[in-house]
Amino acid sequence: MPMNYKHILLLFLILFQTYTYAQSVWSDSLILAPERSQFQKTSTYVDVIGFLEAIKKQSNNVFIFSMGKSLEGKDIPVAVLANPQIKTAEEAKASKKAVIYIQGNIHAGEVEGKEALMMLMREILLVDKNHLLDNLIILFVPIYNTDANDKMAKGLRPSQEDSPPETGERENSQGYDLNRDGMKMDALETRSLFQNVINPWDPQIFVDLHTTNGTWHAYPLTWAPSYHSAGEYEPFEYSYYKMLPSITLAVHEKYDLKFGVYGDYELNEGWPPKNFYTYNHHPRYLVNQFGFRNRMAILSESFAHNRFYERINSTYVFMAEILEFANKNSNEIMDINKNAEEASIQNVLKNAGKVKKGVQYKMVPLNKLNGFITYEYLTVLDSNGLKKHYRTGKIVKYDSIDYHAKFIATKESTLPRGYIIPAEFTTVIENLKLHGIQLEELKKNQSFTGETFLIDSLVNSKNSFQKHSVAKLYGNFKPQTKSFKNGDYKVDMAQPLSNLIFYLLEPQSDDGLAYWNFFDVYIKNKTIKGKTIEFPVFKYF
Ligand SMILES: [Zn+2]
Repeated sequence: MPMNYKHILLLFLILFQTYTYAQSVWSDSLILAPERSQFQKTSTYVDVIGFLEAIKKQSNNVFIFSMGKSLEGKDIPVAVLANPQIKTAEEAKASKKAVIYIQGNIHAGEVEGKEALMMLMREILLVDKNHLLDNLIILFVPIYNTDANDKMAKGLRPSQEDSPPETGERENSQGYDLNRDGMKMDALETRSLFQNVINPWDPQIFVDLHTTNGTWHAYPLTWAPSYHSAGEYEPFEYSYYKMLPSITLAVHEKYDLKFGVYGDYELNEGWPPKNFYTYNHHPRYLVNQFGFRNRMAILSESFAHNRFYERINSTYVFMAEILEFANKNSNEIMDINKNAEEASIQNVLKNAGKVKKGVQYKMVPLNKLNGFITYEYLTVLDSNGLKKHYRTGKIVKYDSIDYHAKFIATKESTLPRGYIIPAEFTTVIENLKLHGIQLEELKKNQSFTGETFLIDSLVNSKNSFQKHSVAKLYGNFKPQTKSFKNGDYKVDMAQPLSNLIFYLLEPQSDDGLAYWNFFDVYIKNKTIKGKTIEFPVFKYF
């Protein structure tokens, strides 16, 4: 029987059905733990590794490597998404594409980033978002805090209202909060991240995925850029005034979700709220540390009181739109970051010894928030005449709220041309190298002219913070010419990380190495009652 048009149509239908069937049936290994469990469970470490192994078999656009091991010996997997596939930082650099880094699970009770990253990997590698690899090389780290993820228990995230019932712990196995470790680098994870990912791959944008601790604003997700303090202004300006508002608008238009700026209000200031406060400027927070690296960064905080599946969705759409924006504007982003790097070097070359920069900061209002949405509170007086607040289920809108997200210097110090570090300070030298800072060993005895900080007193905090009794130094700088030995280290500030070097090495920096006790033993051994001693790191002009 000759084929007529009916036969041909039938053949097409069969072929088409086979095709769509192949497209819509997923391999079982790509279904995530929350999807399998009606959102009662989050993925374990083994689940994540299983997912990565499975997706690797189905796409040529992914390569997986380990950034390093946790204390329990678990590899921390990094998925490199690139078209064509890329395996090394050198290949990434040669491609001239922008590298974007996104990590989940830094706090292992805040698990939606981990799930959303794997969902987005499926979309990019197997469904309809492969175009994001046109101009980007994307590094996904779904499970940064590996050990803590599996220490699952009930009640570790009270604000998340048992959704999912069990989550991991906040701190890593050494007991550190990985998002307070950006300067001191005590944690194995931080060291691996910087040595094996950040320094070699040099991402243009760093994204850190969290869930809020509980303020009842009514945004499904809030965000913050890398805040501006002693770094360059332009990457902050671009992130805060252009990139993040554009992404927020796109999320609203495409997904009908309204995202806002990150913060908390304080009920003891009365109702309705007049102030909304972000978190601090300190570069111990990884997102802020990136500002000092002349790169952009984004803090993502899904709303704790939404259900788990809603938080995953908010995080997913935010990341999807960050990547859409970065893919469209990759050249502009790279130019702004490169210019910031150049500006920081030029500032050292032109202004060393002449200008001052902040080493301590305080938070002040940046702008007014209009149309701010929050759950409403009712205020009553209790029998003692004290104000008590009851939250209603109603969402209300307020205008003209002061958003506290600007940081102004409360103490400044002169920008040097460089620093000299005596060779005996091995932990300081090791820390600077971990940050990717270039050091030069003196080849002969040499003298330098600049300033020495004379310490009047060192005061340690009474309470332990991140296993440190953090230190504050009091004293003054005086001009000096000082000799150093062959083998001591010189840190020339005319290098890309000059702003970071300044904040690490200034003796009165509120997040520097002196603050984190790197010099306590030396200072305490030298101190004779009532006598000033010299801070060992010297600033030369
Ligand atoms: Zn967090």
